[in-house]
Amino acid sequence: MEKHSNFIRTIIETDLKTGKHKEIVTRFPPEPNGHLHIGHARAIVTDFESARLYGGRTNLRFDDTNPVKEDDTYVQAIINDVRWLGYEPDQILFASDYFDEMYERAIVLIKKGLAYIDDQTAEEIQATRGDLNTPGVESPYRNRSVEENLQLFEQMKACQFEEGTRVLRAKIDMASPNMNMRDPVVYRIVYASHHRTQDKWCIYPMYDYAHPLEDAIEEITHSLCSIEFEDHRPLYDWFVEMTEMPFVPRQIEFGRLNIENTVLSKRFLRQMVEEGKVKDWDDPRMPTLAGMRRRGYTPEAIRSFILSTGLSKANSTVSMSMLEAAVRDDLQEHAKRAMAVIHPLKVTITNYPKNEVEFLEAPYHPEDESLGVRQIPFSRHIYIERDDFVLEKPNKHYKRLALNLEVRLMNAYFIKATDVVYDDENNIVEVLATYDKETKSGTGFTGRKANGTIHFVEATQAVPATFNFFEPLVTGDESLPLLERINDDSWHRYQGFIEADLRQVKPQDKFQFIRNGYFNVDDDSSEDAIIFNEIVPLKSSYK
Ligand code: ATP
Ligand code: MG
Repeated sequence: MEKHSNFIRTIIETDLKTGKHKEIVTRFPPEPNGHLHIGHARAIVTDFESARLYGGRTNLRFDDTNPVKEDDTYVQAIINDVRWLGYEPDQILFASDYFDEMYERAIVLIKKGLAYIDDQTAEEIQATRGDLNTPGVESPYRNRSVEENLQLFEQMKACQFEEGTRVLRAKIDMASPNMNMRDPVVYRIVYASHHRTQDKWCIYPMYDYAHPLEDAIEEITHSLCSIEFEDHRPLYDWFVEMTEMPFVPRQIEFGRLNIENTVLSKRFLRQMVEEGKVKDWDDPRMPTLAGMRRRGYTPEAIRSFILSTGLSKANSTVSMSMLEAAVRDDLQEHAKRAMAVIHPLKVTITNYPKNEVEFLEAPYHPEDESLGVRQIPFSRHIYIERDDFVLEKPNKHYKRLALNLEVRLMNAYFIKATDVVYDDENNIVEVLATYDKETKSGTGFTGRKANGTIHFVEATQAVPATFNFFEPLVTGDESLPLLERINDDSWHRYQGFIEADLRQVKPQDKFQFIRNGYFNVDDDSSEDAIIFNEIVPLKSSYK
């Protein structure tokens, strides 16, 4: 983060200089109601990097105040995602651990005459809030006595009332120009089992009340959140002050990260999973961190992408190609090179000895020797890409194989196509060719030029593999409802071959298949059924 100065850093540095804080403490506070997406990565990177840069600490705190939507499986998934991104939380905490203290602090509010039990329904409360031009209407229950409020609140906690019949509201200002200050709800009745506290509680604190208290309890110095909470800040400060929290955290907002043609909302992503539009949260097409991991994006690339988008108060929208470029930069440097044929066409080299296989050595990376070398088999039988052969050279820019033309097979020999074999439907199913022994790669042959260089896989040792290609999940006209914009044809699968040395690949191994793009071994891949996911195409395929 060194070079990425931003307004949050400026605030932190001032607070350290003036002695307001000795140690910086931040938190990342997800609600465990789904998996994290790339938007969350901005919050995670901002929270962790802002503290890390000044030797501070960052908590991962689950904002689990809404038992109906939350689940333990999401807790574990989020912990994994944060670690995968490269951050180890100093503590893993839960808002629900503070339910007792939150309840006690609500009693402080009631005793100060700053909160009351309202018997109105949610609809009535909504209808009397007023709007930006009209003040709200005070509840008929607003002036209950402290004693009555204490009594009713205790009964609420003791589960003596039906869901939806009463709430605890803060008594602030029904005419405030800030709608959040118009007697917001503090506690509501919910009869649902909580993933951690089970059935201990039937009243749950609202986000606006719980969040500042959580921050204060954990002594969070800078509570960083996205910009939609800006209007909630006066309420945040009010709750901290009025509940007499000994520590006063400061909320600072930053702009949300949006990506073009990508929906970053847990609610929407959950719907995609539940309606079977994708396989699961970690479907390689999903903009979740789990999906990106499965696709083959690296945490280094995601972090560098997030930092390169900068940070300001304004929401920003960037294109997916910017993230892809960061992924490509990282893989360019670290991924092994190898050959794969994704749309195979058989080639028989008629002048190569029968039943003979030779091995040609090549490095796994042109610049990084530490990635080692591999032995590439070569014989009379090979596969090339269908697209790398045509009967007749169409124009002078065509640099691949055609009848009576010679190409270089990467890491092997020049071959010249001499004939083709057709099937019953007149499709070319095989190319016959000859090779020239003198042109062996690495021998420094300069006798003549080939019509381009193509890749291949030797056929007798070739390892079959499935190649998955993906398109955006959501496309088309942005004015249409999201569910009508789902691309039903976003997953393409092909059967091809990889070189023999790749037989032992493991999930998450990454390769640049020469001339084809970057690929990641899928989590479901096994030695018997190898599966690759396209991570990003090679740059040159971008027009
Ligand atoms: P969603 O709408 O997808 O459910 P959320 O904001 O409700 O997202 P939380 O679990 O509450 O999800 O988010 C945890 C933190 O991540 C919050 O502080 C939120 O501000 C931040 N965050 C979520 N999405 C983005 C985004 N696109 N850009 C920046 N920060 C984000
Ligand atoms: Mg949320």
